[in-house]
Amino acid sequence: MNREREYAKLLLAAETAVGIISVTAFCALFFTAVLCLTDVVRQSVLIALATILLLGGVFFALRLERLAGYYACKRCGHRYIPDWKPFLFAMHVGRKRYLRCPNCGEISWQDKVIDAK
Ligand SMILES: [Zn+2]
Repeated sequence: MNREREYAKLLLAAETAVGIISVTAFCALFFTAVLCLTDVVRQSVLIALATILLLGGVFFALRLERLAGYYACKRCGHRYIPDWKPFLFAMHVGRKRYLRCPNCGEISWQDKVIDAK
């Protein structure tokens, strides 16, 4: 296994860990605010903090996912790292994203792959 492949797998594992930690922290803070606190101001502050942590974690996880490996076009096989905007707003199921290939222009569901070739 070459170094780039190991690095990509590590980034994807880190993405999963960051996602799980962020969602767990959000749920813990949110339900603590809703179930344990009676003061509306404290509830609001805790929910705002939970939301900031969740958004930060999701953004960081997306950053890791984008940099790990490549997306492969189903039509021409071109492998590339998408720009931020299409990556961020593309429909997705897991790590599979609906993207336009920069090589042939085909829009398709593209899989995340580890290897450049
Ligand atoms: Zn293509």
